[in-house]
Amino acid sequence: MKQIAYNTPEELLAATNKNRKSTSLLIKKLAKKKPKNLDDFVHHLHNEAFEDFSCLNCANCCKTIGPRLTHRDIDKLAKHLKIKPVAFTEQYVSVDEDGDYVFNAHPCPFLLPDNHCMVYENRPKACREYPHTNRPRFYQIIKLSAKNCETCPVVFRIFEELKKKFL
Ligand code: SF4
Ligand code: SF4
Repeated sequence: MKQIAYNTPEELLAATNKNRKSTSLLIKKLAKKKPKNLDDFVHHLHNEAFEDFSCLNCANCCKTIGPRLTHRDIDKLAKHLKIKPVAFTEQYVSVDEDGDYVFNAHPCPFLLPDNHCMVYENRPKACREYPHTNRPRFYQIIKLSAKNCETCPVVFRIFEELKKKFL
């Protein structure tokens, strides 16, 4: 995987929708085959993709899906902004339909116009870990990752490369 063409969120969603059938087929195939080297292959694709692609040219995740916030995230962000956690929560946090703490606005209130993160060194754990394609046991998050193809061009590309190898 040499280059990743940047997709607008709309193009990416359209491409994800177009490829849903082959993505479902891939998930079924991998469930049956359970390839031993799947994690190594996905991690290789992840590293290769992020060598070529800068999140600063994208920020789709920060613009469209917020992270879940833990109490520790809220404490760290409040400290970063030099305000009390209660004040931080009042100003920036809401509770979603699953009962999780999330930012109360999209794009994220800490996303700067040049796509940098205003709180980068204290950003939430979920932001650090997104899009999760470098974690162990990829198979456990394959359905979540398939959903992330709608948002993240790197994840989309990883799925297309997996299809070339396993379909
Ligand atoms: S805190 Fe930073 S990394 Fe996380 S969504 Fe907001 S801008 Fe993006
Ligand atoms: S993690 Fe994915 S969606 Fe988020 S900025 Fe990077 S490439 Fe874009």
